[in-house]
Amino acid sequence: MFPSKQLVKDVSRARLEKTVRSLAEIPTRHTLSGAKGADVAAAWLERELKSYGGNLQVAQQRWVQAAGGRMTKAVEIGNVLATLPGTDTPERVIVISGHYDSRVTDVLDANSPAPGANDDASGVSVVLECARLMAGMRPRCTVVFAAVTGEEQSLLGSAQLAKSLKEQGKSIIAMATYDIVGNSLSEAGKRDDKHIRVFSTSDELGELATQATRRKSLGTDGDSPARTLARAIADSARRQVKGISVTLTLRNDRYGRGGDHSAFLTAGFPASVRFTEPSEDWRHQHQNLRVEKGVTYGDLPEFVDYNYLTHVTQVAVAWLSELAQAPPAPVRVSLKQDLSAQTTLQWGPVDGAASYDVLWRRTTEFDWSGSKRFSTTQAVLPLSKDDYLFGVRAVAARGARGLPTVVGR
Ligand SMILES: [Zn+2]
Repeated sequence: MFPSKQLVKDVSRARLEKTVRSLAEIPTRHTLSGAKGADVAAAWLERELKSYGGNLQVAQQRWVQAAGGRMTKAVEIGNVLATLPGTDTPERVIVISGHYDSRVTDVLDANSPAPGANDDASGVSVVLECARLMAGMRPRCTVVFAAVTGEEQSLLGSAQLAKSLKEQGKSIIAMATYDIVGNSLSEAGKRDDKHIRVFSTSDELGELATQATRRKSLGTDGDSPARTLARAIADSARRQVKGISVTLTLRNDRYGRGGDHSAFLTAGFPASVRFTEPSEDWRHQHQNLRVEKGVTYGDLPEFVDYNYLTHVTQVAVAWLSELAQAPPAPVRVSLKQDLSAQTTLQWGPVDGAASYDVLWRRTTEFDWSGSKRFSTTQAVLPLSKDDYLFGVRAVAARGARGLPTVVGR
């Protein structure tokens, strides 16, 4: 097995808790708080990421955000980024993000205490712990660990990051934001610490007309890059992490809510998904700190379930490190359009692949239900191409599985 096993074991509950509490201790991390808050958080994050050493390149990406929308004035703000350069294909990039800005009831209130422990110090703690664990790796593709700002003011930091990656000509093979991932107890008192949801859209901005025609004709609507990534994440978690599983939620986000993956989708990076806990408690999100009729409101660190957060981070480091070490998705995948009851597939060889998996599922199923491994670049399967969807992925010598290319996309 590839080295992920040890990384999963090494996830530190104590470090996750330390990150959440250190960020929540800063009175506010509101985007408009500047030197009083957000800048303090950014400096802390930069120091922390630099302390991990290894092959990480740590820097702040800073710019002056103009006034407008949820910005009442122009303010210099910044993302904190740690980049782990890829060895074989550095232009292929995986982005994992959490947002370090916080808010209270009024989104423009930059002064009231806003601990933002779950939203989203929890997500930032996942990003930092993955960076720490993977710092010594030399992955095939580049990994960007991002603590972004301005999420609550309309995804400002993630939009800036997506724009700069676009300008650098990077290909984002996967983007995942961890946002609200540390609470396991719902407002109704129901505990679920055994699942983490991954939201994925069917949308594909920038899709070509020819691609859309093919997708509609072959019924591969459910195989958008975001959903293909979500299925790969669930598969990686199933094999590597015990005690928690990934729930596929086939929509972009919760009702009326947004997240940093949407900024990447808008920028033309379609393989972008969002992680969020299954049992949300809105008394502890976006609230002024107060007690009303005996109920404590506010996003405080005492409401984070650190054992649950540890499991969520194990899922993160499992899929992230596997995908970072896996070969690229196969190209020139073709299906022989003959009038026969079997299916013949062919694909081009992939650099770094030791073998290939052909995946399949019935058109009515939402996740892959069968697979077979091949050492050649051709497969014949006793399945009707009319009734099934197929994908092909490359597998590295040590077992890391890449993202599949879906036939008919
Ligand atoms: Zn959030």
